Amino acid sequence: TNKFREGLGKTASAIAGKVEELVLRRKKIDEAFYEELEEILIGADVGVTTVMRLTDELREEVRKRKIEDASDLQPILSEKLVALLREGADEGLRMAESGTTVILFVGVNGVGKTTTIGKLAHRFKSEGKSVLMAAGDTFRAGAIDQLEEWGRRVGVEVVKQQPGADPAAVMYDAIRAAKQRGVDVLLCDTAGRLQNKTNLMEELNKIYRVIQREMPGAPHEVLLVLDATTGQNALSQAKLFGEKSGVTGIVLTKLDSTAKGGIVVAIRSELKLPVKLVGLGEKMDDLQEFDAEQFVHALFA
Ligand code: GDP
Repeated sequence: TNKFREGLGKTASAIAGKVEELVLRRKKIDEAFYEELEEILIGADVGVTTVMRLTDELREEVRKRKIEDASDLQPILSEKLVALLREGADEGLRMAESGTTVILFVGVNGVGKTTTIGKLAHRFKSEGKSVLMAAGDTFRAGAIDQLEEWGRRVGVEVVKQQPGADPAAVMYDAIRAAKQRGVDVLLCDTAGRLQNKTNLMEELNKIYRVIQREMPGAPHEVLLVLDATTGQNALSQAKLFGEKSGVTGIVLTKLDSTAKGGIVVAIRSELKLPVKLVGLGEKMDDLQEFDAEQFVHALFA
């Protein structure tokens, strides 16, 4: 069974549905065909640079294999998409060889950070691991409560301080608690206010340094959470965070609520950052590890 099929319905009809219609209508592969194909992919937020690269590769392949029929093109398109998504992709989350694995989550408000942390806590718990969460967003009203609500739901404790407290101090407490209790995984929330970016980046740097100092080798992942429904905006957020906060991978949320799931392809090819996890709904189980092949197959189901 394909884990992505259900969640990617909207993107699938935006890409596969339209490609199918195009193939039936045009029949032959010519310049006009490529132009329309490019429009479809750009419309699904694959991103102009990536689309141009993809169609260049398609042209070459079509020439090499001497293909004329548009109906023979779709498998090649799938192949190219899978190859692109796989490029340099890491396998899953990087975990500590021994001791606590620390995962830091960054990203702007509303993208789904807290939800992703809750889902991941649930996942690790169901694998029999001990989990702790750190309420590092001391800025947004309600952020601590929201994390605690997830904590209750999945049965995981939250390390916290008062709203307005220094998030680096929260991390210090959390690392100490994780070490004392021999916790397997520590999931750290952070603030995502976009006004005053410099301060936020400084805050994230300080958090990062405290974690590194208190636990050499940590954090094992710094995951940037991006909302797929914001399309190209997600890409510019990635550039903003990526440069400054040592991001090691992407979590792309809300793929179930958008027809612009092509953004995954753009992120892969333009950022050179692996998409580690994708959010496919609001429920506890709606989080999947990214799998290029299944993803593309879901699009052309
Ligand atoms: P944060 O501000 O980054 O911590 O974002 P939240 O975790 O509070 O999420 C913001 C909203 O997005 C909430 O209503 C979540 O239920 C919703 N959300 C998060 N992930 C997903 C997802 O994968 N799919 C859908 N449909 N909604 C999501």
